[in-house]
Amino acid sequence: MAVNLDRFAEGLPDPQAAAPVAECAKCWREIYAGEPQYHDMYELGGHCAECEDERAEAEESEGEAEE
Ligand SMILES: [Zn+2]
Repeated sequence: MAVNLDRFAEGLPDPQAAAPVAECAKCWREIYAGEPQYHDMYELGGHCAECEDERAEAEESEGEAEE
C-alpha cells in the first residue's frame, strides 16, 4: 500500500518566514513575515491583526468608521 505523504507536502519551514519582522506597537507581540501589519497615523510602527480588530471594533462603537 502507498503511504500518504500529504502531510509533508509543505516541506521544511523557511527560516526567513519564521523570523519575526516587527513587533506590534500595541501589544508587543512579534509579527512574522506573511502576517498582515496595520498602521494608524499615530504610530511609528505597525500593529498586529488582533489589535487591528480591537481598534476597528472601538471605532465602530463610536459610529461610522470612515476614512
Ligand atoms: Zn497587537
